[in-house]
Amino acid sequence: MENDILNITVDRIAESRIKEIDFSNIPFGKQFSDHMLVMDYANGVWSSPHVMPYGNMPISPACLGLHYGQTIFEGLKAYRQNNGEIVLFRPADNFARLNISAERMCMPTIPVDTLVECLRELVHIDQNWVPKTHNASLYIRPFMYATDEAIGVRPSETYRFIIITGPVGPYYSVPLKVLVETHYTRAAAGGTGSAKAGGNYGGALLPTRAAQQKGYHQLIWTDAKQHRFVEESGTMNVMFQIGDSLLTPSTGDTILQGITRDSVLTLARSLGIDVQERPISVEEVVAAHHNGTLKDAFGVGTAATIAPIELIGHEGEDLVLPPIEDRQLSKALAAKLTAIRYGDAEDTFGWTVKVG
Ligand SMILES: *Cc1c(COP(=O)(O)O)cnc(C)c1O
Repeated sequence: MENDILNITVDRIAESRIKEIDFSNIPFGKQFSDHMLVMDYANGVWSSPHVMPYGNMPISPACLGLHYGQTIFEGLKAYRQNNGEIVLFRPADNFARLNISAERMCMPTIPVDTLVECLRELVHIDQNWVPKTHNASLYIRPFMYATDEAIGVRPSETYRFIIITGPVGPYYSVPLKVLVETHYTRAAAGGTGSAKAGGNYGGALLPTRAAQQKGYHQLIWTDAKQHRFVEESGTMNVMFQIGDSLLTPSTGDTILQGITRDSVLTLARSLGIDVQERPISVEEVVAAHHNGTLKDAFGVGTAATIAPIELIGHEGEDLVLPPIEDRQLSKALAAKLTAIRYGDAEDTFGWTVKVG
C-alpha cells in the first residue's frame, strides 16, 4: 500500500496488540502502538518513509551513534477531542526543533512538511491507540541516530529516523520539591543545551539522583559560569509568578526552547498578563519569597503541561511556596491549554493539526 503524495510504504501488523492494553491504567512510556515509521539516510538523501510493525531492529556494535552520541529526539502528543477527532499539538514546531537539534549535532535535516505528513499517516494507522479517556493521550517520540558502522570520531554518513508512539495516562504528579544546583551544570554557553540531544540527559542523571537522595524530586539548573541565574527545572522550562507578573528565563543556547513554554507565554499575553522573559537570578527569587511576592513557581513541558513546585531548596534553606490551591494564574493557564488540546475551547492560535 502506498500513500501517493509521500510514497509512504505501509506494512501492517498481522494482528493488533491493542487488546493487551489496559487503557484504564497506562504506565508512562512503557507501551507502544502497533506501528513505527522508519526513514534511512544514505548518500545524501532520505529514503521514502516506511511504516512497519513496532519491533526490535538489529544494530551494529560499531554503530557510531552508540559511541559518540549523535542522537537527538523529540516529544509531542496526539489528543482525541470530544467529537472523536484526533489532533496533533503544534507538530511543525516540534519538527522545526528537531532540525535545529540536527544542525547542532551535525546531522541531516528533514523538511518539516514531510515529517508532519508522515506523522499524520502513522497516527491515522494507529488511531485506535489514541486513548478515548479524557486527559490521556498518545505520546509521540521521533528520534534520529547515526548508523555508520565505524570506530573513530567524525560525523556519520548514514542515519536512521524513527517515530514510535504509545498511549499515556493522565499525568499525575505530586507538587515538586526542587533543589537549586550550584555545582553541576546541565548546559554551558556554546554547548548543546538548546538541542534535544541524548547526551544532555545522560549527564543530568547523577546530579539529579543526588538531589533525590536528599529528598527533592528535581533540580533547578543554574548557569554554568556563576550558578547565579535560573535556567530550567529538570527537563522542563521553569516559570515564576512574582506579584502579578509571569517571569521565565530568556532562552539562549543553554535553554531548550519549549513548545509548552511558548504556548503558556502566548496564552498569558493574550490574557493581558505582564510576561517577562529575561535573566532571573536565584537571589531575586529568594528575595521575592522573603518579601511575600513569590506567588507561584512551576515547570512547563509536554508530559506534565504545568507541574507546580511546592518547595525550593537553596543553600540549606527550604523555601515553602504558597499552597497549590491558591495558584489561580497557573491553574487558569493549564486549564486553557487542556481545553484547546481536547477541543473544549476554540483553537484561536492554530496549534492543533487534524490527523484524519
Ligand atoms: C523537551 C524539553 C523541555 C520542554 O519542551 P516542550 O516542547 O514544552 O515539551 C524543556 N526542557 C528540556 C531540557 C527539554 O528536553
